[in-house]
Amino acid sequence: DDTSKVDIIKKHISSYPDFPKKGIIFRDLFSILREPSVFALLKEILINRVKSNFPNVECIAALDSRGFLLGPLIALDLQLPFVPIRKRGKLPGKVISEEYSLEYGKDVFEIQQESITQGEKVLLVDDLLATGGSLRASCKLIEKCEAVVVGCLVVIEIQALKGAEKVDAPLHSIIKY
Ligand code: AMP
Repeated sequence: DDTSKVDIIKKHISSYPDFPKKGIIFRDLFSILREPSVFALLKEILINRVKSNFPNVECIAALDSRGFLLGPLIALDLQLPFVPIRKRGKLPGKVISEEYSLEYGKDVFEIQQESITQGEKVLLVDDLLATGGSLRASCKLIEKCEAVVVGCLVVIEIQALKGAEKVDAPLHSIIKY
């Protein structure tokens, strides 16, 4: 049971009311990264949660941009490939795209075609689940690659927004608000 470790992580997440706009409480992962011992604890928790919840994972894919702070830590430790999912126009070579709706307008996620193999078991990683729009689009993107999403892992879940219901894969969160 890692409850006491999770409590330490929670204490070190700074919250900023009304950022980036009124009504949103921004949960800042960077406050954890400023403290190496706390960051090490988070790394340990993430790796243990992956081992116990998603033991058959073959590839770690993370979302632009704060997912990139976490995904490679897990991938390297478990000796799995790390794959980035980025906003349109950032990744070179052949890419596969998935459009998704934002509050105002649309955006596109992309993944490099050569980065995922057919049938590969992928774990999606991000810092935070809010509405679930980003992870939902990412799940669709992985399916377009004919790979399999074994689950989604986030540090923080904003439960009131019910993002977990939008994601078509088992969701695991470490801290819930
Ligand atoms: P969503 O697609 O609505 O689930 O939003 C998730 C993405 O937006 C994540 O990549 C987060 O980094 C970012 N995000 C959304 N809400 C917050 C918040 N309250 N604090 C920090 N990041 C957030």
